[in-house]
Amino acid sequence: MHKQTVQQKVALLIDYFSCTMPNPKSELSYLDIYQLTVAVVLSAQCTDKRVNIITPPLFDKYTDFFALASASQNDVFQLIKSCTYPNNKSKNLINLAKTVVKDYNGTLPNDRDQLCTLPGIGRKTANVICSVAFGMPYFAVDTHVFRVANRIGIANAKTPLQTEEQLTALFPDEVIPNAHHWLLLHGRYCCKASSPNCRNCSVSSACDYFAVNHPVV
Ligand code: SF4
Repeated sequence: MHKQTVQQKVALLIDYFSCTMPNPKSELSYLDIYQLTVAVVLSAQCTDKRVNIITPPLFDKYTDFFALASASQNDVFQLIKSCTYPNNKSKNLINLAKTVVKDYNGTLPNDRDQLCTLPGIGRKTANVICSVAFGMPYFAVDTHVFRVANRIGIANAKTPLQTEEQLTALFPDEVIPNAHHWLLLHGRYCCKASSPNCRNCSVSSACDYFAVNHPVV
């Protein structure tokens, strides 16, 4: 069978997901950039479901960066202790809030390099914030995006950063914020880590993993 080029695969994915998920959204619950930032920091190596259970009482008590900056670590720890790494995350969240208050007057900067200097915010988190909150063309590569992109064959990379660079070069800027959600949600619900549901996958015709593991006989 004729092997698709990477550009053809990307075109197929954009066509398919634009129809099936025209407005994909984060599954994290948040109302503003402050809440999004806290939720994304908490979601590192934790499920969105768990984060969405934790955040309502946290946001009720600490309504913005100013409030969180003056919180005690023990209090934040108690509120988030059912998520992963609560000790580190409670420290990071308070230090992040303190820095945003001190250096940015309580408003999160809309600049990836500045975001990456804040406690608890690495490149992936900064990319999520830039793309979800500010609509910028930064491709956030989490474990799902990494796995799906490399299985399909629109990336051929050993690291998330390489994957990010390859995907950023392939997808049009205006599509990148949606494409992040498309690949993430496809990975979460269909192209799962241990058992990808290839038989019921609507983009299998574009997928290298499928071609290798389900050869036409
Ligand atoms: S065909 Fe299988 S490996 Fe390929 S994207 Fe679909 S679920 Fe993932």
